[in-house]
Amino acid sequence: MIYADNAATTKMSEAAVQTMISVARDCYGNPSSLYSLGQRARETLEESRKIIAGVIGAEPNEILFTSGGSEADNQAILSAAATGRKNGKMHIVSSAFEHHAVLHTLEKLKKEGFTITLLDVHENGIVHPDEVEAAIRDDTCLVSVMYANNEIGTIQPIREIGAICRKHGVLFHTDAVQAVGHIPIDVKADQVDFLAASAHKFHGPKGVGFLYARKGVRLTNLIEGGAQENGKRAGTENVPGIAAMATALKEAAGQMEQRAAVLRDKRDRLIQGLEQIPHSALNGDAANRLPGNINFCFEGIEGESLLLLLDDKGIQASSGSACTSGSLDPSHVLLAIGRVHDVAHGSLRLSIEAELTDDEINYTIRSVKEVVEYLRSFSPIWRELESGKKPHIL
Ligand SMILES: *Cc1c(COP(=O)(O)O)cnc(C)c1O
Repeated sequence: MIYADNAATTKMSEAAVQTMISVARDCYGNPSSLYSLGQRARETLEESRKIIAGVIGAEPNEILFTSGGSEADNQAILSAAATGRKNGKMHIVSSAFEHHAVLHTLEKLKKEGFTITLLDVHENGIVHPDEVEAAIRDDTCLVSVMYANNEIGTIQPIREIGAICRKHGVLFHTDAVQAVGHIPIDVKADQVDFLAASAHKFHGPKGVGFLYARKGVRLTNLIEGGAQENGKRAGTENVPGIAAMATALKEAAGQMEQRAAVLRDKRDRLIQGLEQIPHSALNGDAANRLPGNINFCFEGIEGESLLLLLDDKGIQASSGSACTSGSLDPSHVLLAIGRVHDVAHGSLRLSIEAELTDDEINYTIRSVKEVVEYLRSFSPIWRELESGKKPHIL
């Protein structure tokens, strides 16, 4: 089996599994309890916070544990919006290809009276910092731009955007769920106020993540109850999950450079191989791109059929589109970079792992070629394209 859907979730590392088991087994006290078993759990929690903060250049008390990336995105945006509302600033700038955890939260705020500007991400899938600056108004309370896109892998100029936001005194949130553990991040140098991350995207467990919130920035609670997490996120902490997240992140940070180099080489070989398929195109900038992300459109086919046939060949991939969630709309990310509906439907995302072998790379290229040819052989759209009734776009 070839697992090529690491942008959706990753396999837990062995070290993270071991941490999770041993903490769950031996460190089961409630971290808010005063006796020693509770205090051991508290120490595990604070040690994890320190490790995680260290990896992204934060202070431990700037890290808030959450149930994952979605919760962290929600809390960051709703916190900034609450501050904005209080100051009569109800305008938010974001981008058209954010994750739904961001976009749906912004839609909710829009219904509550906020004005949302969604920036163009252009053909290469990158936000232009000068357009961020141009979009900022006197009543802007937040800019939210993701660190790296989950479908097409493009890395955004976060440091430039951070500097612009700081200059204008506007809060800046970045959804860094695809970036943390994969590319180097320094929240101080990047001048971000909020950053969201999720353990299961860097070989940690599912259902746990964190929000970086810069010291002094106001947070609103999504969950009311006990005084956990400085009173900003109630509920007994997921100690085994948090400890495993710290183990996974420490491991990922230690191996980041070598793994990224290996991944880039494998990624580029896959891209070169898939580019040989006629009427295909890489989605997103080739250079400013996550080390393990490959995303293509193939004209004249349906991404969903492609995935099912690849699954038959033992390759687990994604279309990167909302088709998988039951909707037939093409991916909002591919539409945002200007792909027309027909083309956007024929998409394939491979998010690979460093262990992928040369044989597996060649097998993957061969399999995609075969399946695309097969699907085109009975595709009515392909027939129209080939007969010249419709012009080829790719
Ligand atoms: C996976 C993902 C999320 C959601 O994270 P969860 O931990 O699954 O809630 C948010 N943003 C991006 C960019 C993601 O890839």
